[in-house]
Amino acid sequence: HAAKAKELRGKPGSLKDGTHIPLLANVGKPKDADPALEYGAEGVGLFRTEFLFIGNSEPPSVEEQTKAYTELLSRFPGKKVVIRLLDAGADKPLPFLTQEDEPNPALGLRGLRTLRVHKDVIEGQLKALAAADAQTNADLWVMAPMVSDEHEAAYFVKLGKSFGLKKVGVMAEVPSIALMADKVAQVADFVSIGTNDLTQYTMAADRTLGTVSNYQTAWHPAVLRMIKLIADAGNKYGMPVGVCGEAAADPDLAVVLAGIGVNSLSMTPVALDDVRAELANWTMDEAREKAEKALNGEFYKPAWGD
Ligand code: PEP
Ligand code: MG
Repeated sequence: HAAKAKELRGKPGSLKDGTHIPLLANVGKPKDADPALEYGAEGVGLFRTEFLFIGNSEPPSVEEQTKAYTELLSRFPGKKVVIRLLDAGADKPLPFLTQEDEPNPALGLRGLRTLRVHKDVIEGQLKALAAADAQTNADLWVMAPMVSDEHEAAYFVKLGKSFGLKKVGVMAEVPSIALMADKVAQVADFVSIGTNDLTQYTMAADRTLGTVSNYQTAWHPAVLRMIKLIADAGNKYGMPVGVCGEAAADPDLAVVLAGIGVNSLSMTPVALDDVRAELANWTMDEAREKAEKALNGEFYKPAWGD
C-alpha cells in the first residue's frame, strides 16, 4: 500500500477512469514548499499569508510581502498557486487588526470583513501579489477568506483585478455563500471551499471547542449538501471549485468530494500519497454513487451516538 502510494507520487491525481483531479498542497510559509514538492503536489491550493503578520506589531511592508510571495511562486514555475489574503480574527487573532471585545469572534470581524475595515492592509497585499506575479511565472490565483455572498465576491474580484491580478476568487466557508453559489459563480473566477469553517458554521459548533468537536466533521450530510450546492453551480457556469479544508485530506472523503463534482483537492502535503492512491481505485461513476450515499447520510455517525 505504502509502496504503491510512493510509486504514484510523480503522477497527477486521477480516478481509475483517468479523470484528472489535481492534488495540491496547503502551505503555511514559503519553506513549507519543500514537503509540497517532495510529496508530488501539482501546485499550491492554499497559501496562508497569516505567518507574515503573526508576531508583528504592524503589517509587513509591501516590499517584505513581495519578497515572500516571490519566494513561494518561484518554487512552482508553470504551476497553479492559490494565495489567500490575510484571515485575521476569530481563531486567528492579530493584535493590531482584531477587535478584542467581540462576544462571538467567529461571528464577528474576520477574513474579508476585517480587510474591508483595514483597506490599507488589503491593498498592500494585492499590490505585493501583483508585483510578485510580474517577477515569476507560476499560475497565480488569489482569493479572500470568509466571503459572505456574491456582493462581497464581486467587490473582491473587482478590487483584485484593479491591481492587475488575473484570477481572483473567493473561499466558500459560510452557509450564506453556499446558498448563493449560482450568483457567485457568475462573478468569481473560482471558489475554494474551506471545509473547516464551512463545517463550523453549518453545524453551529465552534471549531476551537473540544466540547463540541463531535460536530466538526464534513461527513455530516448537511455539510456535504452545502458543498454540492457550490460544486453544482461551478459545473453549471464552468467555474472551478476546489476544496482546501481538512476534508480533502481524508482519502474516503476525497472520493466523495470528487463524486460530488469538486474539481481539485488541496491538503497538508503528508496526506497526498494516501489520497492519490485511494482516488485511483474509483471510477467517476463509482465515486458518484458513493457521493449519493454520503449525501443521504449513509456514512455519517451521529455526533452523540445512537
Ligand atoms: C477552512 O476553513 O477550511 C480553511 C481552509 O481555512 P482555515 O482552516 O485557515 O480557516
Ligand atoms: Mg477558514
